[in-house]
Amino acid sequence: MSELTHGSIPEIFGSMVFNENVMKERLPKDVYKALKKTIMESKALDPAVANIVANAMKDWAVSKGATHYTHWFQPMTGITAEKHDSFISPTEGGNVIMEFSGKELIKGEPDASSFPSGGLRATFEARGYTAWDPTSYAFIKDGTLCIPTAFLSYSGEVLDKKTPLLRSMDAINDQALRILKLFGNTEAKRVNTTVGPEQEYFLVDKKYYDERKDLQYTGRTLFGAMCPKGQEMDDHYFGTIKSRVSAYMKELDEELWKLGILAKTKHNEVAPAQHELAPIFTTTNIATDHNQLTMEMMKKVAGRHGLVCLLHEKPFDGVNGSGKHNNWSMSTDLGENLLEPGTSPRENAQFLLFLTAVVKAVDEYQDLLRISVASAGNDHRLGANEAPPAIVSMYVGDELGAVIDSIENGTSYIDVKREKMGGGAAVLPPIPKDTSDRNRTSPFAFTGNKFEFRMLGSTFSIACTNIMLNTAVAEELRVFADELEDATDFNDALSALIKREITAHKRIIFNGNGYDDAWVAEAEKRGLLNLKSTPDALPHYTDEKNLKLFQRHGVYTECEMHSREEILLEEYYKTLNIEALTMLDMNRKQIFPAVVSYSKELAEVTLGKKSLGIADCAEAELLSKISALAVELHAADGALEAASAGAAKLSDATELARYYHDTVLPAMNELRRVADALEVLTAEKYWPFPTYGKLLFGV
Ligand code: ADP
Ligand code: MG
Repeated sequence: MSELTHGSIPEIFGSMVFNENVMKERLPKDVYKALKKTIMESKALDPAVANIVANAMKDWAVSKGATHYTHWFQPMTGITAEKHDSFISPTEGGNVIMEFSGKELIKGEPDASSFPSGGLRATFEARGYTAWDPTSYAFIKDGTLCIPTAFLSYSGEVLDKKTPLLRSMDAINDQALRILKLFGNTEAKRVNTTVGPEQEYFLVDKKYYDERKDLQYTGRTLFGAMCPKGQEMDDHYFGTIKSRVSAYMKELDEELWKLGILAKTKHNEVAPAQHELAPIFTTTNIATDHNQLTMEMMKKVAGRHGLVCLLHEKPFDGVNGSGKHNNWSMSTDLGENLLEPGTSPRENAQFLLFLTAVVKAVDEYQDLLRISVASAGNDHRLGANEAPPAIVSMYVGDELGAVIDSIENGTSYIDVKREKMGGGAAVLPPIPKDTSDRNRTSPFAFTGNKFEFRMLGSTFSIACTNIMLNTAVAEELRVFADELEDATDFNDALSALIKREITAHKRIIFNGNGYDDAWVAEAEKRGLLNLKSTPDALPHYTDEKNLKLFQRHGVYTECEMHSREEILLEEYYKTLNIEALTMLDMNRKQIFPAVVSYSKELAEVTLGKKSLGIADCAEAELLSKISALAVELHAADGALEAASAGAAKLSDATELARYYHDTVLPAMNELRRVADALEVLTAEKYWPFPTYGKLLFGV
């Protein structure tokens, strides 16, 4: 329970992290410097210093009560993995000492063969290893020193999400530095992308959760009629937080703070039982690690309060699902936010160039952004009127929209020369941070000094989205730098480039209502993609232009991309398969028998009334309604079973994903429709599991 007394937050913050301060305190000066250099410049660690660092880390961890260490990594399963080893090492006389070597710090060898590899395993060596990523601090969790690591196969194929993320950050760094140099900035040594991911989640009472197989096996309710009250009153959003939830949030904050996670904002969300946590932004790599830890802690702390945290994108039909907002920007090691509109024409020209790169990247790689948020769970949200549509577009706001228009119309705002000649007037109107009329329906919104990508599902690792985004923007910056470095007159070339590219990619900008049906038609006219479902989106992963993109920037090999596409397709149809089987199980063991019991009671009453000569009989009427639905239920059950069985004929992952989407999913929906209709008619004491009312309002 809470260890906090007011005022001690700074003390517990980062207390379980081997951070800057601990390093400074526990490492010899030269070792600290070497490590720091490694971290700042994303260089490889010198093995000579590794031993000293490892030993200091171990001493620190043991002083905090740790007994084990683990290489903490992010395989393609979507969650994190860890295998714990203790520090103990036997000595003569049957004693042990606590030991941890540089070798153990730098490299681990988990068995790679049980993690998804999408065919890589067959082609390459099965063994894999983990390698320390010193740009993310080590931390202690549950008495174990966790070392953030990358996960690779021995032949060098990437098996995780961290490695390509780090590579994409290097790619955008290389290209952004070229651009900065063109603007005369030679001081910046590194450009990092930054992210603040806002995380939504639901809390339900554990006693109800334990009675629902669907929640346990699939994370969402596969059956359930909407209760009389949902979110229509809008009385939950930012509402008073219930004391039980408040105690949960308080403890969660503390756990996160100990891990050095900058948990900042917490509030109720739109749907009943739905909440949100937002951290303060940090470097993308760390933000990714922290978001994984946040999700893990959300679940763990819930258990201590008799609650279960649901991270699924759509736990309940009829109320909003959960997403994650990826707030993204780029900044230099000197703290300059490159997406912050400046005050001088030169700064503004630089801002507009970076902005143009993002606009072009989002337009040309719409498919990749869409793919980065594609999953069976998120398919329930995208395109429904609660989350951004499946069409990727950008919102830039009125002021910036006007600037873009004027650039296109030739009344160019960029006039860097005037500043040079001493004119000095700011030719760009100030672009205020626009907080008032924020467009909540846009998938990709400019929010003053960053972009907010809102299509992610709540369960997602943010790695994939940021790999796509970083690499796509890196590519545009590369092309821009190539052109501008060769220009005879930089300013002329810059104006021409911005004008040309904005005009060419303006179609991706849409400031209207993304939930409007008219937008779907308009987007089609503009030639934008509308990849409605996961099986529609995923096959574009390995389109020629995408293969080229990732290869050029050294983020993925062609083979790694094929394997990733395969893993994502597999995850999609396996998820649907588990859901279908769970539905059949619940129907046969719980729903149908409940309907039979209630029918029996109604039949008995009907018979009794008849024998007494009572003509009017509501029970008989109800019974006939229920009987008719029971016939439909039985038929829908058979149809779903047949649909599931039909998958056995297929083996290709793309075909399987399509089949589950086109054939199994509709059969699931039909079974649910009938079962939910029966729930509405059935007496509560017969209904075999907790209703939406209990789940949504029971905490
Ligand atoms: P809201 O979206 O609720 O209005 P803010 O705009 O303050 O809240 O921030 C939302 C999220 O964006 C927070 O996690 C914040 O840390 C993050 N954020 C703010 N600035 C940046 C930035 N430069 N780069 C990345 N994320 C940022
Ligand atoms: Mg937001």
